[in-house]
Amino acid sequence: MRLPCEVSVASRLLPSAGLRGPGRAARAVLALGKPPAGGGGGGGGVWLLVSTARHRPGAKYQLRENIEHLFTKFVEEGKATVRLKEPAVDICLSKANVGHLKTFLSAMKLADRGTSEESLPLSTLAPPKASEVEKPKTKMTITSRKDYPFTQSFPYTLEQLQASYCKLPRIDMRILCLKSLRKLDLSHNLIKKLPVTIGDLVSLQELSLQGNLLESFGAALCNSTLRKSLQSLDLSQNKIKALPAQFCQLRELVHLKLDDNDLIRLPFKIGQLSQLRFLSVARNKLPFLPNSFGKLSLESLDLFGNPFEQPNPLAPDIQLKIPLTLWEHSARATINYRSVSLSSPSQCPPVDLPSAPVSMAVLTGAEGRITPGSWRPPGRGKEGEMDFTSLIKLHYYFYQLRRFQVQQLPYSCHVLPSHLCHDLDMSKSCHCGRACLSSFIQTTVTMNLHSVAHTVVLVDNMGSTEAPLLRYFCSLTCYSQFLDRHLQSIR
Ligand SMILES: [Zn+2]
Repeated sequence: MRLPCEVSVASRLLPSAGLRGPGRAARAVLALGKPPAGGGGGGGGVWLLVSTARHRPGAKYQLRENIEHLFTKFVEEGKATVRLKEPAVDICLSKANVGHLKTFLSAMKLADRGTSEESLPLSTLAPPKASEVEKPKTKMTITSRKDYPFTQSFPYTLEQLQASYCKLPRIDMRILCLKSLRKLDLSHNLIKKLPVTIGDLVSLQELSLQGNLLESFGAALCNSTLRKSLQSLDLSQNKIKALPAQFCQLRELVHLKLDDNDLIRLPFKIGQLSQLRFLSVARNKLPFLPNSFGKLSLESLDLFGNPFEQPNPLAPDIQLKIPLTLWEHSARATINYRSVSLSSPSQCPPVDLPSAPVSMAVLTGAEGRITPGSWRPPGRGKEGEMDFTSLIKLHYYFYQLRRFQVQQLPYSCHVLPSHLCHDLDMSKSCHCGRACLSSFIQTTVTMNLHSVAHTVVLVDNMGSTEAPLLRYFCSLTCYSQFLDRHLQSIR
């Protein structure tokens, strides 16, 4: 049998014999077998062959009545030491498969006792192939199509792979099986679409797709294991028009490059990317920045070359519908309750509720305004689509929030209908801290980018470091208070 592991051989005679001490452990293959008749060795019995990359024919050691001791205290860690009588050496094994090591050691014990050779798992004492004793390959760089391994397989031990300028039309499925991959650079290819299975690369920290033909970055990718591992993402020089709302699930992102795309907006919850330090979105089509952009805390920011609009707080986009629909009331109450219970749970005493959407209306202050039309949010297609059942489900969720004082009871498609989840996810927050959904006032204000980043690249050739930021208001009161402050500040 053969055992791949790391080996260092130490002579016990040194330094008196003038021999050098043990070198660093080297990748090796051990084999148990009989030397070919007439071949070196002689003396009969079973021999141990230790082959390394530097010395593939290997060193042979007779085993019969020649093992002084087997040190097996750390066998569970894949380590053991074989002390031979003649020559006086200690063969230290490490990084071996535990099961295989145990079998190998017991076969050596039997060989030492001179057990009949037929009962031992012997193999030929032939030198191993070079690939068996070479250090596992962890890095591979390919920069032209002719070097791309279309027929050979990728070493499964790869941790870094660059395959640029290879004219790849899609991501090679073989790459997606490299589970140790930490860094993947597929820049300058012809990739149009990303497979969801990129999310199976559980160790992936850096992904570069610069200079491809991507038109989107899928929501499923944002919900994959990349959420927990991805720290650097380069999507520059593609054709991406928008990123999904779920993009902000990639919470570990530190570096994000989106230059030279066709982005007309940034994910509106981008402020949730709390680890983000380096952001560049130069030369896109952004007219303004999302409201949550102000929450970022960056080291460097580049928004050069976007067609930013001139902010005008006095020209609001009024989407406020008064009276608010029952749906708007209920959803606002749910979100506000969640955020209050998150920040100060003690302010939310549990209440016993009767079970009916009417109680929801009472709770949220919409009493007396319930009409059939108010059961659906405005603009949601045909009458009654926001049905009674959905509202009851929302009400039940709200009830659980209050009843159990769960600080952040998560909602998902298992708890609420998916369209409700979507609407709740898309809620906007007013300057007063409260939520609004489809009924709000929207305007743009000027933001100095130095308030979110240490180093700011000028946004245009005029030397400006200001950009328009979206602002939402949940009520006329909130907007008029803002307007008062704004008018005073410019007076
Ligand atoms: Zn407000």
